[in-house]
Parts: sequence; structure tokens; C-alpha cells
Amino acid sequence: MANGTSPHVVLVPSPGMGHLIPLGELAKRLVLNHGLTATFVIPTDSPLSAAQKGFLEALPRGIDHLVLPPADLDDLPSDVKAETVICLTIVRSLHNLRAAIKSLKATNRLVAMVVDLFGTDAFEIAKEVNISPYIFYPSTAMALSFFLYLPTLDHSTPSEYRDLPDPVQIPGCIPIHGSDLLDPAQDRKNDAYKWLLHHAKRYTLAEGIMVNSFKELEPGAIGALQEEGSGNPPVYPVGPLVKMGHARGMVDRSGCLEWLDGQPHGSVLFISFGSGGTLSSEQTTELALGLELSEQKFLWIVRSPNDKTSDAAFFNPNAENDPSTYLPKGFLERTKGVGLVLPSWAPQAQILSHGSTGGFLTHCGWNSTLESVVNGVPLIAWPLYAEQKMNAVMLTEDIKVALRPKCSKSGLVERAEIAKIVKSLMEGEEGKRLRSRMRDLKNVSEKRLSADGESTKMLRELTQKWKNKAVGN
Ligand code: UDP
Repeated sequence: MANGTSPHVVLVPSPGMGHLIPLGELAKRLVLNHGLTATFVIPTDSPLSAAQKGFLEALPRGIDHLVLPPADLDDLPSDVKAETVICLTIVRSLHNLRAAIKSLKATNRLVAMVVDLFGTDAFEIAKEVNISPYIFYPSTAMALSFFLYLPTLDHSTPSEYRDLPDPVQIPGCIPIHGSDLLDPAQDRKNDAYKWLLHHAKRYTLAEGIMVNSFKELEPGAIGALQEEGSGNPPVYPVGPLVKMGHARGMVDRSGCLEWLDGQPHGSVLFISFGSGGTLSSEQTTELALGLELSEQKFLWIVRSPNDKTSDAAFFNPNAENDPSTYLPKGFLERTKGVGLVLPSWAPQAQILSHGSTGGFLTHCGWNSTLESVVNGVPLIAWPLYAEQKMNAVMLTEDIKVALRPKCSKSGLVERAEIAKIVKSLMEGEEGKRLRSRMRDLKNVSEKRLSADGESTKMLRELTQKWKNKAVGN
């Protein structure tokens, strides 16, 4: 445990690798660039995955972590939504969280608590021990704007949002159809929606909200979030905080980086559906045959198909599997040399920063998207769950750095469509335009994160507030 004179911050991540990673990146900046120390206090419902353990163990000195005893969720029904599991894990860990934070307070100059999108139930503890409650919002400014707007929308809309005839106008954002809103907003009777609304209403309790985005990427949404008179807490766009390809951490046991070394510059399409994404059996077959038809090089992180849900691996991203049991017969042999298929956790940040990677077919998870932005790699948007459809709309229609394949009437993306879109990204004129826009964003990101860049200044401003508080205490 850290025990010292530096101002100390406690970080409480919602379960899920995609929540832990960006909060880890924030912690690194707070500690390495701004002289704070930090402790992760981690609510769980099961032992940490190998990927989570590896990530935590690779964090630099000055960042400790403490894993709370698993919350008991045995009473939840089998069709429970991921958001409900996440929120209940935190609520049922509050007792242990309180004890952990009180003991940190006894030995450290604890100044602030940072929770992420579903962590506001911990704010009462912050109040009890007199530290500042903050939110680190790990997704887009658009999704944050939606969270802050949700209580109003909920009040004024009697129907399901997906049935609204007109698009929803989230402040500062491109209009979006209700059916493209984030998953838990698709069924207002489900507990997942009630949790979403519960937290959305509590966002104004935060003393400030950091969002993992930046002005040049989302000028409209960030402008609206920061508008005077909006009633929002101060919003700090501190992004893009992402794992960098050259960072120490996960070791490449898969050999994929070596494979990439042998491929021509910009020639490989990387395919990954994040820490939790899964496709149906039929869709997996279409994707495989579409890739083959495209005749482009590819590196594909595959998962066992799941015909029931698209986030089957969210709470267990490491499950190894045997692709020969579910990929089309002969696919692996026929594509040998052209493609590499990996059935496990891959060093994604390194893959995206590798010169041979020329495109990324992604589920549009925000960390994956930002990792592509900082490396200037254009996208194929294939959203699956959470807020990914919103991200896909923004990336294709607003920022215009992604192509989106069309679904057939049956809801399947068919092989011919996949081949067409892959070719278009990797060797077409449209792909060139997208790549050029991504390169511009990459250059802006570098500036934002430099020592005198806006994101660094934002964090300096915030940490100075916390340091002043430490002096006052
Ligand atoms: N990731 C990785 N290796 C993998 C799969 C995912 O390193 O094989 C990392 C990826 O780089 C990103 C995170 O896991 O940082 C996934 O977060 P994202 O927000 O994209 O999606 P989520 O997993 O939350 O749906």
C-alpha cells in the first residue's frame, strides 16, 4: 500500500477490462506526470482474469491495487444484462469498499475518489471521509451528453426510445435514431435501464467529470457539455488516454507481432471485437468467407461463436478456444500466409501501432477506437453491444473515419458485403480519404497529450485543485 506524503487518489473501476484499462491510463498520468499516488480498489464478482491481473501488475510504482472480496450475485436470473451485473457488483461491494477507503484515509493524504460510468453509488463514501467525488467517463463526450440528458428525456418521453419517429437530439450531437442508443436504453422496463437512469441522475453529484475524448474529435458534444448554464458539473476532456503500443506491459506470447514484421507496410486488416464481443455461428462463417473473398491480409482475434448474445465474453475475456472447431472447413489452410487467426487475448495496442497494420475492423468499443485514432488507422465499424452503435454512427456519419457494412434483411452481414467493404478500406479511394482524416486526428492527439497540450493542462488544473485540498486538510 502506498503510504506517504503525496496527495492520494482512490480509483474505483466498474467490472470489465474495457473499464479498467482507461482508468489505468488515467492513473499513470496522475502519478507519473502530476506527482500524485493512487490506489485501485476493485469491486468484483469473481476472481480477476489473467488479462486484468497482467494489466494491474504492469502498472508503475505509486499505483497500488486492492481487490475486494467477490460480491454474491447468485440470485440474479440467467438473462440478466451486463449493466445490471456491473451495478449490483458495486452496490454489493459498498461495505467492503467503505472499509478499504477508511483504512486508506488513515494512512494517506486522500483527496479524491474517481469512479467510472456506473460507480456513483460510492459517492456517499467519499462524502463520509470528506474527499472529492469525481467521474472518469471512459467513453465518448456524446455518450456522456446522453447520460446527462437522460433524466430530461426520460421525463418527456412516454414510449420506448426505439419507437420514436424522429431521431433523438442529444445536446451538441448528431441526431441519432432511438434504436442506435446504447443497449440499456433499448428496453425501459428492464433493470439495466433503471440502473442507467439511477446513475445518470446522480452525475450532478460529482465535483467534476473527466471524459476520455478531446475537442477536435467531438467539438459539438464537448461544447454543449461545457456550456455555461447547462447545470453540468465541470467537464474536463482529458483524452485520448489509451495504452500506447510501445508501453511496457502485456508480453506477446502469440507471435503476431513477429508475423506483422514480415508483412508489407499498411497491408493488414486487424479484426477484433474488444474484450467481450462475440458473433453468432452464422455470422462468424460469413466473416471468415468474406475475408477470404476480399483477398486482403488480415489478423483476426477470434472467439467461440455465441448465438444468444453479442457480449458473451465480457466478464471472461481470456477463454481460449479452438478455431478449427467453428471456422468454415478448410478456411485456416486456404488463408495460411494471407491471414493469421488468434484465439486469445492479443497485444492490441502494439498491433495497432505496427506499421503493417492498415485498417481495423472493430466493434467500436471506445478504447479500441481511440487506440486506432492515436495510430492513424481507419476503421470498419461493426458495433455489437453497450454504446457501440452510437459510436459507429458518430464515426461513420460525423467524424467520417469509418465505413460501415450493411446488414441483409435477416440481420446478417453477408460475405460479399464484407469483401466489398474490406477492399474499399484497404485499397479503395474511400479508404484513402478515411486514412488521411485519421492521420490528421493522430497528429492532433499527439499535441493534446504533449507536455503543454490541452489534455495535460486539464489534468494539471484538476490535480492542482486536489493538491490545494491536501494542503487545506
Ligand atoms: N484488448 C486487448 N487485447 C484483446 C482484446 C482487447 O488488448 O485481445 C484491449 C483493447 O486494446 C482495449 C480494450 O481491451 O484497450 C477493449 O476496450 P474497448 O473499450 O475497445 O471495448 P470493450 O472490451 O470494453 O467492449
